[in-house]
Amino acid sequence: MDILDRDIQYLKGVGPKKAYLLNKLNIKTFKDMIWHFPRDYEDRGNIRKIAQLIPGEKTTFYGYIYGEAEISKPKKNMSLIKFIVKDETGQVEIVFFNKVYLKKAITSGQRVMINGEVKKTFKGMQIVNPVLEKINQEEEEGRHGIVPIYPSTEGLSQNEILKIQRDMIRVVKESIVEYLPDELIKKHKLCHIQFALENIHFPNSVKSLKIAKYRLVFEEFLFLQLGLLKIKKDHTKEKEGIVLKKKEGIEEFIESLPFTLTAAQDKVVKEICQDLERDIPMNRLVQGDVGSGKTIVAIIALFKAVINGYQGAMMAPTEILAEQHYLSLTDLLSPFGIHVGLLVGSLSKSEKNKILNGIETGEINIVVGTHALIQEGVNFANLSLVITDEQHRFGVRQRSTLTSKGNNPHVLVMTATPIPRTLALILYGDLDISIIDHLPPGRKCIKTYSRTSNKRKEIYNFLGKQLDEGRQAYVVCPLVEESEAIDAQSATEIAEELSCDLLKGYKVGLLHGKMPPKDKEEIMKAFKEGNIQVLVSTTVIEVGVNVPNATMMVVENAERFGLAQLHQLRGRVGRGSHQSYCILINNSKSEISKARMAIMEKTTDGFVISEKDLELRGPGEFFGTRQHGLPELKIANLFKHLSVLKTVQAEVESIAEEDFSLTLDKYPILKRKIELEL
Ligand code: ADP
Ligand code: MG
Repeated sequence: MDILDRDIQYLKGVGPKKAYLLNKLNIKTFKDMIWHFPRDYEDRGNIRKIAQLIPGEKTTFYGYIYGEAEISKPKKNMSLIKFIVKDETGQVEIVFFNKVYLKKAITSGQRVMINGEVKKTFKGMQIVNPVLEKINQEEEEGRHGIVPIYPSTEGLSQNEILKIQRDMIRVVKESIVEYLPDELIKKHKLCHIQFALENIHFPNSVKSLKIAKYRLVFEEFLFLQLGLLKIKKDHTKEKEGIVLKKKEGIEEFIESLPFTLTAAQDKVVKEICQDLERDIPMNRLVQGDVGSGKTIVAIIALFKAVINGYQGAMMAPTEILAEQHYLSLTDLLSPFGIHVGLLVGSLSKSEKNKILNGIETGEINIVVGTHALIQEGVNFANLSLVITDEQHRFGVRQRSTLTSKGNNPHVLVMTATPIPRTLALILYGDLDISIIDHLPPGRKCIKTYSRTSNKRKEIYNFLGKQLDEGRQAYVVCPLVEESEAIDAQSATEIAEELSCDLLKGYKVGLLHGKMPPKDKEEIMKAFKEGNIQVLVSTTVIEVGVNVPNATMMVVENAERFGLAQLHQLRGRVGRGSHQSYCILINNSKSEISKARMAIMEKTTDGFVISEKDLELRGPGEFFGTRQHGLPELKIANLFKHLSVLKTVQAEVESIAEEDFSLTLDKYPILKRKIELEL
């Protein structure tokens, strides 16, 4: 076995207990550990001798433990451990609060590195709760002021991770072989992988950290782009697509709709139709803010497929959404003799078989479903169009699996996630983009207010008034069950509280992800039909749910949500002609939180919101690849490292040109790596 694949618990000094904690950080093997990169670095500046320490300044120094540690208990719930650290120039007293367990580790004569703020007391120099690291001479000599800070978990200190990482590097360093082609390394002046890994963890200098980081960011983007390219190539090898002709009936269908298409929808429908009429497969992304009316655009495309004698499929990320699409499709299409089927995980075996059979014989023209659609055993008679709704919830793989069920079908992906065009082009490089850039007419702006929880009574009072007027409402809570880690109120609890107290007498329903699918369906149906007035829910309603009579949303613990997510949630109201409201209950006093809520109050434009979120929280939140169904990036950042991304993209394009079918035969190690990563 490759040493890198070894279980982390077998690294000397780790063992099952620490391994358990490391597992929580998704670190299972030696390799995972090495690829557990620092989230930040602390520049501990110049290392001083004890005699040079300046009170009030945060510094680092080396020394040795002198004598025994002394433990005292000045108060009931407080213990102190004190000891002396010396170097050849002086001594400092080290004090830790409530860390008596350190006693075992404090042995006279041990070399240590201390980092913290020095205070002057009447007895001399003192440091309280510093970062303390045991160290040997050799390490000390190689040390500079830059210290990594790792993502950690409760029970695992920075010092412990640091030590594990240091041992790890020593153990595996020699076994890491370079996997990037020489040519590429030279051309882009990349450093060797060994240097990169060593210096990303324990940089020799700011400069070597930079060099290491560049290499790792570069390769991460390289794998991402090559992987994406490979998927794309796999599916467009033979480029011949299915021509879906212009047919009579489309106009008639569009006229039969209960509303007139907006100009934006009309434009996008035309773009899609043009694609479908060509003999190369369509590959198009429809981007449109929540409520812009993407579904109908999809339905028109499906209609076109069916009147040409072919099948269509539409995949949604949740059962609730799939069910809802199923209902609207049936509603609009059955008058035209089009047979729509629903395929979700919760069907009984016989129901499922019936649907599968209908898909295979072609008796079902359009099938709507969840991930169930991409399972084995789903065979289409003649699939010509594949649509994925809320694309950002799916992996690239899943999208392409569905595509592979047809013979080069046309592909339409829909997303409400607003991303800047430059990024969209890179992320969805293979896709043409259509944008539905305005909402249907008559929508009233959703009035949004941020309030603290001491206003809950008034808020729910107001909500009751809406219900009295015949409207419905959502209450969104972040968690299902009470969790110690996050003190958010659970949906279950809130539903109880509302139905027994604040909204007594009204019909309150509960919806969360852990409920059996059948129950979810029933609740959703009851809400749609108005039999439930208030739906208390977790974020399962975040995507797509459409109940126009719902005009009010209360979000509990709104501070816990990303703005983009709040925006998606808020999109559940404001779908009908009545004035809608969104109340964000913000329990955080932080300025950033207040600023974020203020943005939500001010605008309903998804693009503006995502940009502001980016400004306030940094790119991690929004431009995470997970959002777009791509593998998680460990070090590269789509936003921060855009210029590296562009370089890589150009490189990947030239690799693709030379190696047309992307066999990567020239780069066997690289090839294996990409196959493993995606
Ligand atoms: P999203 O883009 O978020 O998926 P939907 O497709 O669910 O939005 O549409 C939101 C609501 O707007 C639905 O109730 C739909 O029937 C309605 N709608 C869509 N297009 C129009 C239109 N042109 N005029 C009026 N209402 C429309
Ligand atoms: Mg939608």
